[in-house]
Amino acid sequence: MSVVDRQEWDVVVVGAGGAGLRAAVEARERGARTAVICKSLFGKAHTVMAEGGIAAAMGNVNSGDNWQVHFRDTLRGGKFLNQWRMAELHAQEAPQRVWELETWGALFDRTQDGRISQRNFGGHEYPRLAHVGDRTGLELIRTLQQKIVSLQQEDHRETGDYESRLKVFQECTVTRVLKDGAKVSGVFGYERESGRFLVLEAPSVVIATGGIGKSFKVTSNSWEYTGDGHALALLAGAPLLNMEFVQFHPTGMVWPPSVKGILVTESVRGDGGVLRNSDGRRFMFDYVPDVFKDKYAVTEEEADRWYDDPDHNRRPPELLPRDEVARAINTEVKEGRGSPHGGVFLDVSTRMPADVIQRRLPSMYHQFKELADVDITAEPMEVGPTCHYVMGGIAVDSDTAAARGVPGLYAAGEVAGGMHGSNRLGGNSLSDLLVFGRRAGWHAAEYAAGRAPGTRPRVDDAQVDAAAAEALRPFSAGTEQPDDGPPENPYTLHQELQQTMHDLVGIIRREPEMKQALEKLAELRGRARRAGVEGHRQFNPGWHLALDLRNMLLVSECVARAALERTESRGGHTREDHPSMDRRWRPANLLCSLADPTGGPAATDPERGQIAVERTATEPIRPDLLALFEKDELVKYLAEEELSR
Ligand code: FAD
Repeated sequence: MSVVDRQEWDVVVVGAGGAGLRAAVEARERGARTAVICKSLFGKAHTVMAEGGIAAAMGNVNSGDNWQVHFRDTLRGGKFLNQWRMAELHAQEAPQRVWELETWGALFDRTQDGRISQRNFGGHEYPRLAHVGDRTGLELIRTLQQKIVSLQQEDHRETGDYESRLKVFQECTVTRVLKDGAKVSGVFGYERESGRFLVLEAPSVVIATGGIGKSFKVTSNSWEYTGDGHALALLAGAPLLNMEFVQFHPTGMVWPPSVKGILVTESVRGDGGVLRNSDGRRFMFDYVPDVFKDKYAVTEEEADRWYDDPDHNRRPPELLPRDEVARAINTEVKEGRGSPHGGVFLDVSTRMPADVIQRRLPSMYHQFKELADVDITAEPMEVGPTCHYVMGGIAVDSDTAAARGVPGLYAAGEVAGGMHGSNRLGGNSLSDLLVFGRRAGWHAAEYAAGRAPGTRPRVDDAQVDAAAAEALRPFSAGTEQPDDGPPENPYTLHQELQQTMHDLVGIIRREPEMKQALEKLAELRGRARRAGVEGHRQFNPGWHLALDLRNMLLVSECVARAALERTESRGGHTREDHPSMDRRWRPANLLCSLADPTGGPAATDPERGQIAVERTATEPIRPDLLALFEKDELVKYLAEEELSR
């Protein structure tokens, strides 16, 4: 087979968003020769699109803030299903990671007295998001890239080669994690431009590939987010945790159709924007759930006073966690009180002077002006829910980011599960990337260095050949077996998949519809084996999509099966047939793994599922962390047996 390049590294990081770059910096600084491989251009990742900010309890704007309050907010937002140790480490370490970014050259917006400014966001008790206007992710990525370049310059001074210890392979897609027995031995991928194959051998692989949004029809995610890392881990034998939890951000653009789903940052509400229905009513006051009743304002006057005097007033209900706001908008539209294009109105024009809007929300101003011809300083925006983030992901050890069951495999960022429980708070992703990206890089480097001499895992040629054959299959689709049907168009399959997930496993779920979705996914899986492409391997987007389909189908089945299994509503999983949160489900995690890891009948038979779901117990929350909450509050979340313990 035509393997173009076969190289040896200590650590390979798959993904160059915030998590991947932070992991790479850490691994390299700890002495590991580190390769970073990314599907898109270096610098183009979801992280760069992040608008609102990084959540970190620095207490710059309200000195009442500290890691314990951040921890509490994160658990409340995740409805207590968070892997609590991750939430603890995250809340404790996020401020350090933000300050560290400044020492590497990031420039955050400042308070009057020169400290890093922090803004309000849904579910955060205090102003907590460090930001750079509404372009925070850009600054984060710029800084991490700059750090990488500075490390490469350092290496050049010592070795004469910029890439001797840290190299970036951009526009390369990884399609398989390779293994030597149970252990990781490297990755297989292809260069998008040339179509040539690539093997990077390494004892440690960090997966940092981001989300799964492209499996849904309306999404804020861009083309790369096809659940590759989730699928790579599954195929390598690592289970996925709680995949039923998918976040629908309440405010995506709804009009014109060409931009449907593009994100409208939560900063719009954090800075004073309000949601209204077609009757002009600020409807969020009607949707404050019992568990949050004492923390949110009951009148518009109190809500408005909160912006100037947060210590003596309760928060506006527009700043409830995202799952609550998304469901409320969904209900308003369904009950006929929506805006002309099927959303609701989000208004800043009557709440702030035009120059303040343009200064605080420059990207939103330009986004609406250019894409929808709407001037947000003079008229309201139309917004509706959009698939935004996946809370479910690779099951990892909280301290080391090691993936469960596969020595040498690590995961960080959106692709890792556990940190956010059933619902992520805005701003908690960028901090998650930095905290756990660093931890993944650290432990991946340590693992690579800790092997006894001569025990470097071996890359098996048969696995490389099988990966190459799998990658080339779309070019001979429909010709392998005499009874193969005609080749299928990958774009058609993708559209049908997105429609299925949107209609049947979307924001509100019902048992018969999820069963229907599983049938449709089985049909699509059979057809996807015949996904065919024409032409050659040089930059062939149809081929790339045909390969991505395997990942989207695997991940979608995980979402649908886990959603069917969890008979309650919690965070980013709402069941119309089980509308309440059920405390008996609090101690339960759902783990998805391959039904037939040997690739036997279950793996190839389109009629049968590829995924097995197992119910496992969550680790009991440490007593000193539980003591941060009032007993009255715990009673609303914890199961009977947990309370009695
Ligand atoms: P990403 O930044 O998504 O990077 C993934 C990387 O993996 C990319 O380099 C990609 O090319 C690569 N990759 C994927 N598949 C493969 C493969 N098969 N082979 C090789 N490489 C691969 N969060 C916040 O906390 N605050 C915010 O204000 C905020 N705003 C957001 C705004 C928008 C519009 C969006 C979409 C998200 C926002 N989020 C925000 C969420 C946050 O940006 C993401 O969750 C986060 O950036 C994910 O980072 P990551 O490092 O895990 O992955």
